[in-house]
Amino acid sequence: AKVLVSGATGYIAAWVVQNLLERGYAVRGTARSVAKGDFLKKAFAPYGDRFEVVVVEDIAQDGAFDEAVKGVDAIEHTASPFHFNAADPDELIKPAVNGTVGILKSVLKDKVCLVKRVVITSSGAAVLRDGLVTPTTFTETDWNNQCLEILKKYEDEGRKNEAPNMVKYRASKTLAERSAWEFVNNLENKARIEWDLVMLNPPFVRFQAPAIHEVSSPASLNTSAAIFYNYVADDAKANAAGNDFLANTGTCWIDVRDVAEAHALALEKEAAGGERIIISSGLWKWQDFIDAANDLRPPPHLKTTLPVGVRGAGKTVKHLTIYDTSKADRILDLKYRTIAETTKDTLADYEARGW
Ligand code: NDP
Repeated sequence: AKVLVSGATGYIAAWVVQNLLERGYAVRGTARSVAKGDFLKKAFAPYGDRFEVVVVEDIAQDGAFDEAVKGVDAIEHTASPFHFNAADPDELIKPAVNGTVGILKSVLKDKVCLVKRVVITSSGAAVLRDGLVTPTTFTETDWNNQCLEILKKYEDEGRKNEAPNMVKYRASKTLAERSAWEFVNNLENKARIEWDLVMLNPPFVRFQAPAIHEVSSPASLNTSAAIFYNYVADDAKANAAGNDFLANTGTCWIDVRDVAEAHALALEKEAAGGERIIISSGLWKWQDFIDAANDLRPPPHLKTTLPVGVRGAGKTVKHLTIYDTSKADRILDLKYRTIAETTKDTLADYEARGW
């Protein structure tokens, strides 16, 4: 079977591609340019002609995926902007929403459609809310309407660009996910759709190595991987953040290799069809990863010095955002890596790169 993976040059998507190739699937990845596609082709050369690339320059454009969806049996849509430096929230929202609806439209338009399932990478960002004072367990029935309300307030005041960056990103994920469900539940579409939709909602994704996508230095890491490097492997940056920050900051996490496994399982498990599924390996604070880094024997040889923080402080603080992952357990039977495993592998990767 052949699977289309959108945004294959991305951090998560590259792992999704590798996992699918390892399972024996043929994969068509989309990249924004021929040059980016060539890098992927080189990275996945060991899989021969089971891996191919098509260029989709901008997912926000109408019909961007019309050609890409032809002849594939399933889709993993992961492409979506993930960064915190958009001035205008539409820089994130437009590609997130248009890309998601666009890929679904392209599948529906395809006259000889072979697609049986579309898996979309949504996010915990579309589930949770801020400002909690007591520990709160979120399930798949929760929606982050809060970020939309905050954004609307800024819009109403004529200063949407000043909305917090996190709000802009969360709004893009919430609106994109909502638009996908609206698309498949629209009665006119529903009568014609012969595939089903699976939504995966991971929290912040960790783990770097061995990166398949293009990264030459810590500065070129994707958003979530770069933050990990800063607080777990670079004492100057961690110290600047302060011990209180390290002990108290963190919600839920998942290793990128487990995210990739979940994307494959979401294609393969019949019962996943039509489901929104939270995947999360559990709770964390930066201090927990820092402790795991300092536990490593032998210690990694890095150009930076490991932060220390206050050992054990991450264990004593209150966790407010908790995900109920029982649906993922039941449907995907996903096994998660631990903080110790992920930290060990990530620091070994930094070491191998000479960082
Ligand atoms: P990356 O930035 O590494 O990947 C995003 C991908 O989307 C890249 O391939 C990027 O291409 C592509 N892309 C973005 N905008 C466009 C556009 N307008 N046209 C074409 N391609 C575009 O981020 P991640 O791998 O971390 O994120 C992948 C998905 O996972 C996203 O949907 C994100 O919201 C979601 N997610 C991520 C989490 C995390 O902690 N990392 C947590 C939960 C969800 P290019 O690199 O060329 O710009």
